[in-house]
Amino acid sequence: MIKTVINDLISFVFPNLCIICGNELPENRKLLCESHFKEFKPVPEKAIRDQIARIDTCYFSDLSILYQYDQNLKTIIHQLKYNHGITLATYFAEPFLELLTGKNFDLVTGVPLNTARERDRGYNQSYLLAQAVSEIMGIPFKKILMRNANTKSQTKLTREQRRKNVANAFACITSVANLHILLIDDLITTGSTINECASVLIKNGARKVHAAAVATPVLPEEYELEEEEFTFLDRL
Ligand SMILES: [Zn+2]
Repeated sequence: MIKTVINDLISFVFPNLCIICGNELPENRKLLCESHFKEFKPVPEKAIRDQIARIDTCYFSDLSILYQYDQNLKTIIHQLKYNHGITLATYFAEPFLELLTGKNFDLVTGVPLNTARERDRGYNQSYLLAQAVSEIMGIPFKKILMRNANTKSQTKLTREQRRKNVANAFACITSVANLHILLIDDLITTGSTINECASVLIKNGARKVHAAAVATPVLPEEYELEEEEFTFLDRL
């Protein structure tokens, strides 16, 4: 009885609402209505090919991206990074499973944050995504890269500056010889960060790197907008 009253009081003060539509959620659901996943737009094949074509020397052999980046995904990815990583990462596990089904990986990992940034945040959203995928696909998760300190913020940099900025930003901390690695990030913009990670893995003997992300901007106008607005790149 008392417990019920307390629960009622809590849901009155902190209602369980969807961060996109503001509708009240069932008790077993947090943050996001299930229905929104049906509304997110898939990334056209051509956009994936263009993304790869824009990268000078591409070190990953495949690229899989769940959704086109839009305002709703912007909200979700912000929450994924700063507040509710575990809950939201879990929601993306099943879509990743669908997208990657039939592929065989030896390991799954995420793009590392620098240590200070991870300490501030309390977690790395890319690792949470990779761990959720590890669980649903039954592939071992491992932290295999580290980010060297003091790479500058990418936010205000051009494509070329970004590429230079991330060169030598990562190092391999464990053996990856002959492994097929699934490398996950939350968002891909120019692709320079994930490509730099892939290059380190390949140079350390990995057999193949498959890059994957939750979202990428597809339309050129969105892309320009996000170059200015992206906050996820502030982790660099
Ligand atoms: Zn909703």
